[in-house]
Amino acid sequence: MVDSIPALISIRTATGEVEMVNRQCLDYTGMTVDQLKNWPEAVHPDDRADTIARWKYAIESGNPLDTEVRARRADGMYRWFQCRALPLRDTEGRIIRWHALYVDIEDRRRAEEALRSSEHQLRLVVDSIPALVSTMTPAGDTETVNEQLVAYTGQSPEELKNWPEKVHPEDRARIADRWRRSVETGNPYDAEERVRRADGVYRWFHTRGLPIRDTEGHIVRWCLLLTDIEDRRQAEQALRASEHHLRLMTETIPALVWRTTPDGEIDYVNRRVLEYTGKPLEDFGNDGWLQLLHPDDVDPTIRIWRQNTQTGEPHQVTYRLRRADGAYRWFDVRGEPLRDNEGRVVQWYGICIDVEDRRRTEEALRNTQDRLSVASQIATVGELAASIAHEVNQPLTAVVSNGNACLRWLSAQPPNLAKAVEAAERIVRDGKDAGEVVRRIRALFKRAAREEVPLDLNEVIAEVLRLLQSETAKRRVIVETDLGQDLAPVNGDRVQLQQLILNLLLNGIEAMDPVIDHPKRLFIRSKRESDDNVLVEIQDSGVGLKDPDTVFDAFFTTKENGMGMGLAICRSIVQAHNGRLWAASGQGPGATFCFTLPLQLSPMS
Ligand code: ADP
Repeated sequence: MVDSIPALISIRTATGEVEMVNRQCLDYTGMTVDQLKNWPEAVHPDDRADTIARWKYAIESGNPLDTEVRARRADGMYRWFQCRALPLRDTEGRIIRWHALYVDIEDRRRAEEALRSSEHQLRLVVDSIPALVSTMTPAGDTETVNEQLVAYTGQSPEELKNWPEKVHPEDRARIADRWRRSVETGNPYDAEERVRRADGVYRWFHTRGLPIRDTEGHIVRWCLLLTDIEDRRQAEQALRASEHHLRLMTETIPALVWRTTPDGEIDYVNRRVLEYTGKPLEDFGNDGWLQLLHPDDVDPTIRIWRQNTQTGEPHQVTYRLRRADGAYRWFDVRGEPLRDNEGRVVQWYGICIDVEDRRRTEEALRNTQDRLSVASQIATVGELAASIAHEVNQPLTAVVSNGNACLRWLSAQPPNLAKAVEAAERIVRDGKDAGEVVRRIRALFKRAAREEVPLDLNEVIAEVLRLLQSETAKRRVIVETDLGQDLAPVNGDRVQLQQLILNLLLNGIEAMDPVIDHPKRLFIRSKRESDDNVLVEIQDSGVGLKDPDTVFDAFFTTKENGMGMGLAICRSIVQAHNGRLWAASGQGPGATFCFTLPLQLSPMS
């Protein structure tokens, strides 16, 4: 039995001499029992002294021996053995013999060695990965931590066992709760928390934990990985802040802001648009926004917008947009395409600015001006009337008092005829005086009505254009001229001709007010038509004329505040200058007004 045990057995005397060994022992060492009496020979030189000392101690103390030792095999190779020896005692307790058992543990030691080295490798990896790592027991307590975690927190692995202390107080309860749930359910752990650095600064970490299970599925430990996300979080925060800032800006600027896809589908509008129109964003897609325009503005607007989205040219229109309460207000609209690096349009951005109030103010201003000029006319007439009354009153008063005097002389007893004749003569004189006053006033009016001088018509046109400069600029009217250089002077009244041209130009400008789909163009041409005639043409790109004749009728007007007198006066001025004024239906949009004036005018009566 002893020989067939897969281990080496030796029996020693109470003093430790080898007495007997089993077969395995002889086979392994290749030595005889006699040779084995000198047993340290079979022990590895490095282990020899230690083993001898241990035996010595065991024999002296009587304690069992337990040690590991390398024993030489027959072929000279050393293998590790675990040596256990127990003393055998007699009835009095004296040691009579030692029984020693050597079990070959070479393979186990190698495995242990390999494990240790692989563990070491792993440790190295875990310690050098740029993240904090810890393992936890299945119950959720800290087991091990890597060096990074120690270095980051400045705490020893022992101190780190109380890990909630390292977490920001505000995150502690949340994190503890999460961790408890993972430990209870075995579900992976995933959370973000602030962890205190050695210097006391908290940084954000993303912690992920996975359970490690044995073959039966029981969790044997948890492995936690903490990644520093502070920088990422800060960048995210900065991005969020700048996004918020931008959004705030688009939401608060006092204009309607919109964005469309490259082909013109609205995909964003700011809050002001929603508030103004009272519609949700969905109502703007699929050309829904066109329903919010004034019916008269839809066609021109859509034409321009289609054209702009096709060519990528900046978009610029004016239209009336319906407010939530149904009222239409005028808006100036601008759109610009945003392009990518290759120049392709990726988006359109645009704004609509409410110009209703400005328009109303302008209109009010115009009305005020009109009223003012009427008022000043009335004032002038009033002044004139007062001075006429004054001048006429004086002789009339004298006539009345002389008449009375004459009556008194005639009714005296006896009548004083000589005095009566005198008074009657004074009446005649004063009456003549009054007539003279009236005549003078008429003459005054005649002179004021026409003062003929030789005039350069181009100069008159230029004067009027200068007067209108701010008006044309304000209404974005493009003025073009083609003034003939060979015009001889005409005889005429400067103020009246100025009035004529001013009237025609103003009519043209006003006729272009509703235009939004093409440029507002005002064209003035002067040329010598024949030897004795000059022709002036004023062409606009406005709404045009329905009937070129009726417009000259007095009181014909299509304007809310119009008098319908402008063209009638114009015609009478031209006729007074022996010229002709007519309207022609021009080519393209708009109207053309023409007048001719003779180069030589006969003096007016
Ligand atoms: P008012 O301008 O006060 O209405 P006018 O005699 O100047 O009086 O003009 C009469 C009408 O003729 C205008 O109301 C307008 O309908 C029409 N009209 C005048 N000029 C033009 C023009 N250039 N284009 C289109 N219509 C015009």
